[in-house]
Amino acid sequence: MDDSDDAATQTPSPARTTANPAPETTIGRIVEVPDTMTVPPRSDAEVPGYVRALGLPGLADIHVHFLPQNVLDKVWEYFDNAADNYGRDWPINYRFDTDTRLDIVRELGLRAIPALTYPHKPGMAAWLNEWNAEFAAAHDDVIHCGTLYSEPESADYVPAALAAGAKLFKVHVQVGVFSPDDEVLDPAWMALEAASVPIVIHAGSAPLPGTYTGPRAVANVLERFPRLTFVIAHMGMPEYDEFADLAERFDNVFLDTTMFASGYFSSPAEVAPAYRERLAGLEDKVILGSDFPNIPYPYVDQISGLAALGLGDGWMRSVLWANGAKVLGLD
Ligand SMILES: [Zn+2]
Repeated sequence: MDDSDDAATQTPSPARTTANPAPETTIGRIVEVPDTMTVPPRSDAEVPGYVRALGLPGLADIHVHFLPQNVLDKVWEYFDNAADNYGRDWPINYRFDTDTRLDIVRELGLRAIPALTYPHKPGMAAWLNEWNAEFAAAHDDVIHCGTLYSEPESADYVPAALAAGAKLFKVHVQVGVFSPDDEVLDPAWMALEAASVPIVIHAGSAPLPGTYTGPRAVANVLERFPRLTFVIAHMGMPEYDEFADLAERFDNVFLDTTMFASGYFSSPAEVAPAYRERLAGLEDKVILGSDFPNIPYPYVDQISGLAALGLGDGWMRSVLWANGAKVLGLD
């Protein structure tokens, strides 16, 4: 496929209609939390009330994808074949057109909407960054995002994206099949460190391991650029403890909750007590992430799954709002 020139032939995905309603309920899941905690939401419709009950101005979800439609179609096609690719079905829960998806996350309470993009081959990142600039310019509440690939041109297009106002980057190590500690990326890391712009990095070896996934290469980058703001996607699944080590060791390393304890890859009951304790200690380092719209369950499962860790309303306030708002510069 050519990612840059078939955008004009895109066919919009269907809008939400009564025949195609928004997912309303969590499938048969009862979430138990201590009596001292606010009762978690049971459906997407209950999320805004829960956020208000916690006294929060909204949700600061740092891991949301909006992509050029032709790229998104390819991503959805990949998930349609998830039984082959991942060994299990992955029905996309929010397969709607762009405006509908924007409305859904606004209704859920996102005050600023990330539009994370990522390339799977060289020569694509600069084009994605242009798309990101246009998409952010067209929507007041969309965060201007950027991405990169391990290629010499990143030394130019990353500083250019930052100069154009990019506020959040995404790097996907497994899909990109490159190592984050490849020296070709040093100028890009230097620019991102100087700009204090956060980078959501999918570097863990799940759901699929890659040649370059795992904590070692990320640690190598941080040893050279210790003030980089890395947000480790999926809490670093499955290398949870190794990535938690980095979050404890480096001031600007955070963990995003994307799909963690949502009941699909891991359920709250399966979280090891020792790791749960670490998460209590990392209250200022865990940031809400969802992977909307490419999730095989309703958004609420992410929120209620985190609540079911039983770490308290204060922890939930930090994770759902305060930490992400600080990193994204929201008030
Ligand atoms: Zn993602």
